[in-house]
Amino acid sequence: MILVLKPGASGQQTEELLNQIKAKGFDVHISVGHDTTIIGLIGDTTKIDRRTFSSFDIVLNILKVTEPFKKANRMFHPEDTVIDVGGKKVGNNTFSIIAGPCSVESESQIVEIAKELKKSGVTFLRGGAYKPRTSPYSFQGLGLEGLDLLKIAREETGLPIVSEIMSTDVLDRFVEDVDIIQIGARNMQNFVLLKELGRTTKPILLKRGLSATLEEWLMSAEYIMSEGNENIILCERGIRTFETYTRNTLDLSAVPAIKKLSHLPIIVDPSHGTGKSWMVETMSKAALVSGADGVVIEVHHNPKCALSDGEQSITPDEYSEIIPKLNKLADIEEKKLEV
Ligand code: PEP
Ligand code: MN
Repeated sequence: MILVLKPGASGQQTEELLNQIKAKGFDVHISVGHDTTIIGLIGDTTKIDRRTFSSFDIVLNILKVTEPFKKANRMFHPEDTVIDVGGKKVGNNTFSIIAGPCSVESESQIVEIAKELKKSGVTFLRGGAYKPRTSPYSFQGLGLEGLDLLKIAREETGLPIVSEIMSTDVLDRFVEDVDIIQIGARNMQNFVLLKELGRTTKPILLKRGLSATLEEWLMSAEYIMSEGNENIILCERGIRTFETYTRNTLDLSAVPAIKKLSHLPIIVDPSHGTGKSWMVETMSKAALVSGADGVVIEVHHNPKCALSDGEQSITPDEYSEIIPKLNKLADIEEKKLEV
């Protein structure tokens, strides 16, 4: 349930209303906008009588939220959420680019790629240290050493780093070392992990599950938010359909849908979404035009020899050609590349 307050409601009147809500056992989520204040009630509001709150003079309107996600719901927070990552902004007419190799492989690999990306323009450096591979015999990532190498690349270039966490045992290291913690598609419904990350204040990149509906995905965001962490960036990375030509089916319609349903920023991963390096440019441009707040692009200096996801990785040279094109499109869409 949402209570929209009349413009000009006084602090004292609002306080009285909040006390009444809390006395009924609800948590509140307050959103102060330009003209109105919105109070979201969190808890089971099915049995509550609207008259309980309509008697308050400052209540302009009472709305029922039918969706199961509350804190992630745009009704709770009409304005777009902007995530601040050490001064770089995700959301609000900026277009962020997270780029880097699928896996961190060595110091020279990650530092070399990071430097090239920096030259072309990039917002964040990505690199997997823990890899969720389909086969247990495939490269599993360098683990904590991978995080150390990412930190070296950050020191060399100043680029904030993004890496995927797979288990809570290394949570402290991730919180300490990484600027954005990624939850991969396979862990989108690892509720224990989601709750633990909800108790941190780190920005979270929450990828859509392999066959998750938008509602399931937003409920995963809700798990993190319900524990207090509202710094979430959603990432559409393709879903499983009957089509096998592409690795996944990149669901770009998820972007306007999420924008309607939620205030959280959403970015698109054309690399995992298609599995084909030659599609990355086209789908990055499409992502920008669809209204996304950014893209994730896998870049490798020698894709043929990459230890994971070489087929979908572009080279630093190819990357450098995409950036000016995205810049032009960003102008048309009244966005600004955050590079
Ligand atoms: C990745 O980012 O390298 C990755 C494994 O992504 P996803 O979880 O989307 O498959
Ligand atoms: Mn990958």
